[in-house]
Amino acid sequence: MGCCLFGIALLVYFLLNLYGVLSPSSSFFTAVISKGNKEREVYLTFDDGPTENSAKILDWLKENRITAVFFLIGNQAKQQPLIVQRMIDEGHIVGAHTMTHRWDFPLRRPDNIATEIMKGVEVIPCTVEWFRPPFGVINPLVALGVKRTNLKIMTWSLRTFDGVTFDKYKIIQRLKKVKGKDIILFHDTNDDIISLLDRFNEIIDQKELTFGHPSSIGDSI
Ligand SMILES: [Zn+2]
Repeated sequence: MGCCLFGIALLVYFLLNLYGVLSPSSSFFTAVISKGNKEREVYLTFDDGPTENSAKILDWLKENRITAVFFLIGNQAKQQPLIVQRMIDEGHIVGAHTMTHRWDFPLRRPDNIATEIMKGVEVIPCTVEWFRPPFGVINPLVALGVKRTNLKIMTWSLRTFDGVTFDKYKIIQRLKKVKGKDIILFHDTNDDIISLLDRFNEIIDQKELTFGHPSSIGDSI
């Protein structure tokens, strides 16, 4: 009997874990922001930079007078301090996305998770408030680790898979689903990012939405 109960408890734990892992907007394990709070605004976020595309993205944002959030990988930020400084100088919000972005990040001990996050924070020369977990995975270990850092977690409500597919048609079909309050996930790693952003800008116009300033995102906490 005890064994059976233990089995059930284990299964429930496993299913909850799976839910937290598969649903980056879920706040099951910890507070997570995955949407803004203004009806007609959407917010741009870029993960996995800086890369050689980041300067082009910054030019595009400047030209279109849009402020975004960049979630940086510490190792890359360390190698490209000038582009990180430019993000900060141009008023963008810079968040942490771990030091190494390794696949086993969500499987480590909470103290190790916290260290990996804070190493990534230390290479960013401004106050960092936000953390985005690699792959959007928030399980109990990640939740405990992040709690030790005092950072807030921002995920997204619309992902384009632009980091894993270069099929522009598919990405654009996903972008067409945009709604007010959405936090959009793009990647600095997509070499076609500027034409995707141009197309997305048209979609936003057609839907009579605007790009919001991401500093208001935290207001919904
Ligand atoms: Zn990432």
